[in-house]
Amino acid sequence: MAEKIIIAIDGYSSSGKSTMARELARRIGYVYVDSGAMYRAVTLFALRNGMVKEGKIDVDSLVSALPSINITFQPTGEDGIQHTLLNGEDVEKEIRSMEVSGMVSPVAVIPEVRERLVALQQQFGKEKGIVMDGRDIGTTVFPDAEMKVFVCASAEERAKRRYLELKEKGEEVDFEEVLRNVEERDRIDTTREVSPLRKASDALELDNGSMTRAQQMEWLMEKFHEIEMKK
Ligand code: C5P
Repeated sequence: MAEKIIIAIDGYSSSGKSTMARELARRIGYVYVDSGAMYRAVTLFALRNGMVKEGKIDVDSLVSALPSINITFQPTGEDGIQHTLLNGEDVEKEIRSMEVSGMVSPVAVIPEVRERLVALQQQFGKEKGIVMDGRDIGTTVFPDAEMKVFVCASAEERAKRRYLELKEKGEEVDFEEVLRNVEERDRIDTTREVSPLRKASDALELDNGSMTRAQQMEWLMEKFHEIEMKK
């Protein structure tokens, strides 16, 4: 049995990294952790508890509430995918709403939020055998990860994907609004002071704009086997 490794998949919003990471984990029998879902759950908590007023976050209240925010994952929901639990409540659907998407990047800028979530993410990876996707997994959370992938595609391509995904879920959305949200999140994610989104120097780049899902999986499996063989 080959030694288990840590796989970090980073990239821009709606680049398809979660789908890819989840599928890879399933195929190789690893645990999958969606780090974006954790930032989304903290955002939902802030929204529900009146800590966002007119688009402004009450940072002090949110930071003091952090110890009471418990985020866990339920291995598989009825739909076969992992569900995010906020203080024991399944919030998988709520954290994907446009309202949460609109506030999550400003919440993810708060250093105390990052510190707490990064510590939790590192805890999840203690036993290795994990695939985690996000923005700073290969740079900050697991700088020593054996396999690092950086996914990119144009903002239009990503907005198109996100738009179709939301429509499929029955959300009333406007393409321009989705595109603006994707671009705005890119801007905040790449320019923030703490752990900005960037490609780790030792990450493999995957430009999936014109690749099918099957081609992406083939690419990932090939890289995984190459790295695993060297272990
Ligand atoms: O991956 P997803 O789009 O669900 O992530 C939501 C938001 O959470 C991102 O736009 C980013 O602002 C933040 N995030 C982050 N660091 C991570 C994962 C997500 O800052 N590791």
